[in-house]
Amino acid sequence: MGLFSKSSDKKNAKNDNTSDRNEDDNEISRWQDKYFTLLDAKELSESTYKETQDLLCKTIVRLAIVASGFDPQLEPNLQRIRNHLKNGIDNHNLKVELENITQALTQLNDAPSNGSPTNKDISLLFTFLLQRYTSEKQQFALSLLKESCQRVDDPQRLFAAIVEIIEQDRNADLSTIQRIEHPLFFLQQIDARFVNQQLLYLLEHIEIPELFSNQARVLKQQLTVREEATPSFELILDDAISLLIAISTHNQPKQQEIDKFLISITEQLTELGLAVNGTSIAAIDASLNRSKLDQSVSDQMSDLHNRSIHATQLEPLKEVISSRIIQITQEIQEHKQKEAIQREKTQRQLDELSQKITIMESEVGELKLKLITANTHALHDTLTGLPNRLAYDERLKIEMAGWRRYHTPLCLIVWDIDHFKHVNDQYGHQIGDKVLVHIANQFTQHIRNADFIARFGGEEFTMLLPHTNDQAAFKLADKLRAIIENSRLKENEIAITVTVSCGITQFIDGDTHDSAFIRADQALYRAKEQGRNQCCIG
Ligand code: GH3
Ligand code: MG
Ligand code: MG
Repeated sequence: MGLFSKSSDKKNAKNDNTSDRNEDDNEISRWQDKYFTLLDAKELSESTYKETQDLLCKTIVRLAIVASGFDPQLEPNLQRIRNHLKNGIDNHNLKVELENITQALTQLNDAPSNGSPTNKDISLLFTFLLQRYTSEKQQFALSLLKESCQRVDDPQRLFAAIVEIIEQDRNADLSTIQRIEHPLFFLQQIDARFVNQQLLYLLEHIEIPELFSNQARVLKQQLTVREEATPSFELILDDAISLLIAISTHNQPKQQEIDKFLISITEQLTELGLAVNGTSIAAIDASLNRSKLDQSVSDQMSDLHNRSIHATQLEPLKEVISSRIIQITQEIQEHKQKEAIQREKTQRQLDELSQKITIMESEVGELKLKLITANTHALHDTLTGLPNRLAYDERLKIEMAGWRRYHTPLCLIVWDIDHFKHVNDQYGHQIGDKVLVHIANQFTQHIRNADFIARFGGEEFTMLLPHTNDQAAFKLADKLRAIIENSRLKENEIAITVTVSCGITQFIDGDTHDSAFIRADQALYRAKEQGRNQCCIG
């Protein structure tokens, strides 16, 4: 208003003095120009201030969102700032809150750090990765990895796992990124500082091939400087991920070489193991030693396997494997020596055992022979060699069992030499014995294989004819009778002729040995009565 008052005064002065009018008009015009210039400047200044204020407001809101959930100390301050800013900036209150939050941040920065990522760091890293890599497969794999990775004890392994997941479904991942409307969308929701720290930690702890060292160094510098989410931060992240993937890809052929090397070592060890098994002999001690060796080899192979999983360099791995192979070979040599000693011992024992067995076999053979002889003697007649009465009784049981089971006919013949007493009396007892042997031979030569003959006692013989009825038995008996009658025993130029008589009976239902024998014996008696040298059925 002061400027307007001055302008009115100047107008009044112009009315009073016409000569000075033009000069006065010029003066007023100059003042007016100055006034409007100042007015424009003020308006411009106010507008700039408002823009700056808006920007500050947005920045603080963004800071509040980024840091949200980060620390319990900051949380209440951030909440209050957000509430203040909803209704515009109140300089006094905002100043107080900003001082509070600055103090909280200062305390946070002073918190001790051991240089390795904490659980919170891992959580933030996974928050980033889960927002960055959004295919279904990657999301699932990342969630699993996050669950299994509570602490970063093995960053190299973590790196390998993350890279593997990132490389999965890369095309799908790119299309997902293209769908995100604003590139800062996800970056606004994470703490870039901790992602930087995580990436730095990974880059410092993995083995970076010479080829990538410059790239990694530049990246590390960028990660160290950048502490907030900006579009270039996203580019750095992309660079970091690309570098990690490139390192992984670079290491792949090396890993394949290691795998190939390990396969060949495993094959050699397998052959070695087979050789050891092949030269082994079964023995308890040897078996025990072998299981110890197996365990040792197995432990060492397991260790080698674990080392190979983490190995990225072939030379150190080769050294470890070579030393292990020497160790395993030594153990195998020791094992073989122990086995050789054990084998000699076992061989001696086997030889002794073998000798004992040979002796025992010989003894058993002799015993067997004695037993056979004893049996033969027990069941055979020593004069004629025919089965004796005991053998007859045994055979009768068998034949009667078959007859009862199969209802096949069975016949019994009882033979007696006619007037044998006369033979003994006329030629002597020894000649009588020879007559007994002669008749036994004739009978044996002319009966069927299935038929059975025994010397029942004295000059009596019995025959069992299975599968034969009394008529057939009669035919066979009469044939035998005729053979004996027509045969001659020549002794000292003397031809001795004897005849035989027999009684025949077929087993009938309800028969016992005695009842059948009685019938046959009665038939024999009849044959004797009827004149001898004949056969009768009873
Ligand atoms: P038969 O039967 O025709 O009525 O007249 P037999 O002369 O044969 O009568 P008996 O049966 O009574 O006589 C049997 C004789 O057989 C009596 C015995 O001396 C003789 N004898 C028995 N066993 C043997 C033997 O092992 N050797 C000899 N040489 N004779 C024996
Ligand atoms: Mg008799
Ligand atoms: Mg007789």
